[in-house]
Amino acid sequence: SNRTFTMIKPDAMKNGHAGVIIDRFIKEGYRIVALKATRLSAEKAGEFYAVHKERPFYGELVAFMSSGPIIAAILEKDNAVTAFRELIGATDPAKAAEGTIRKLYATSLGENAVHGSDSDENAKIEGDFFFNGLERI
Ligand code: ATP
Repeated sequence: SNRTFTMIKPDAMKNGHAGVIIDRFIKEGYRIVALKATRLSAEKAGEFYAVHKERPFYGELVAFMSSGPIIAAILEKDNAVTAFRELIGATDPAKAAEGTIRKLYATSLGENAVHGSDSDENAKIEGDFFFNGLERI
């Protein structure tokens, strides 16, 4: 597929990086299919990250992701999932390559500025989680 799903996480929102991150998406050639500022309740954050339910960091992750506003977006480009994960860099900003979004803007392993889907299947599920049919044409 040529689509991925992303969130600008509460740390990047709070630290004033949302604009430059969206600008980077555009400069890297992604088409913005859908985009909105929104918030996740703890319940919704828990549902979004249900796959991590048994992990030790799950509670921290849910609390963080529901701690403030986020921006959710569906982005389109060839090979989007793989290319976008390269653009954001490793989960831990300390391990992320120079110039990646997490290297530049993330706070820590937990508060790592952006989300990017890890498969085409999850990109579809995650985009559907935030946007209705008309919004994601
Ligand atoms: P994402 O799914 O957000 O793009 P990812 O695929 O790079 O991130 P995952 O291993 O799926 O990383 O973890 C999901 C999210 O959980 C991470 O982005 C991070 O915010 C948080 N997380 C992962 N590992 C830890 C940890 N050890 N401690 C705290 N938070 C963590």
